[in-house]
Amino acid sequence: MKHMTSLILAADIGGTNIRAAIMDSNGKLSHERRQQALLSSPHTSESDVIDILADFFRPLLQQEPALKAIGMGFPGFFIGQSGILSASPNLPKLHQFKLAERLSNTLNIAVIVQNDALCAAVGEQSFGAAQGHQNLLHITLGTGVGGGLILNNTPYTGESGMAMEFGHLRVCHDADANLCGCGALGCVESYASATAISAQYFKLSGVQRCSKDIYKEALSEGTHAKDVIEDAGHKLGMAIAEAVKLLDIHTISISGGFIGAWSLLHPTIMESLNKNLIPPLQGKIEVLPSILHDDAGLLGAGKLANMVVST
Ligand SMILES: [Zn+2]
Repeated sequence: MKHMTSLILAADIGGTNIRAAIMDSNGKLSHERRQQALLSSPHTSESDVIDILADFFRPLLQQEPALKAIGMGFPGFFIGQSGILSASPNLPKLHQFKLAERLSNTLNIAVIVQNDALCAAVGEQSFGAAQGHQNLLHITLGTGVGGGLILNNTPYTGESGMAMEFGHLRVCHDADANLCGCGALGCVESYASATAISAQYFKLSGVQRCSKDIYKEALSEGTHAKDVIEDAGHKLGMAIAEAVKLLDIHTISISGGFIGAWSLLHPTIMESLNKNLIPPLQGKIEVLPSILHDDAGLLGAGKLANMVVST
């Protein structure tokens, strides 16, 4: 019995980068492939998505014929476990797109697909910082700010796949609050995403720098960088407090390049979180940095597929 363990092709699809690897049921990854893919153009059609993904996955499928399924995290809203993409903010041409079914028919293998941030939550709970916790709010800090929720060990999608749009919780109601990509003012994403960090830094310093350099600078001398990171941490703490008041969840995990500045970010988040919580919850919430680096989404997608094929 060579394959006691189910092998899954796990994939993490982003707007600019796509990654895939073969994953065993213990979360061990091998044969990783990554590629730049232009999946964020407003003109990207359903067929473009299928063609890009099928071409990318084929070499791995040929390399390992024992693969049981493809598990994939994708940026967009999925209706329950149907694999139907109701919409994707960066791919406006896609509506009610039967992504899992079409890719499955093209490649002749089962495809399980779910929102990327929800996959990251599953990855973190199964293999990462939140192992052993039944309830988890996972926050992804990247180009945008995403959220994934696990309640009683079950990933929660909401009625149309739009649960935990954490990035669009409003944390500033001032007239000059930052404008968010969603069209509203003062969303936490407009302060704490990598894009927002760069923009805020530019506003204060007049210097264009990428978020990674800003995290580094924040840990040493740069006062502008420190101000920007502390403000982002403060706003994140406020948004987490609102989510905790609603859900009474005690474990939060955070992934993304931003956690490179964790020693500065964490105390700021905790201070603001506890200040904004109702007293019985103060001091009860732990906020953990991801220990999976970039792999949370990949591992979570693989785990979801593994759960489907082993039942
Ligand atoms: Zn927003």
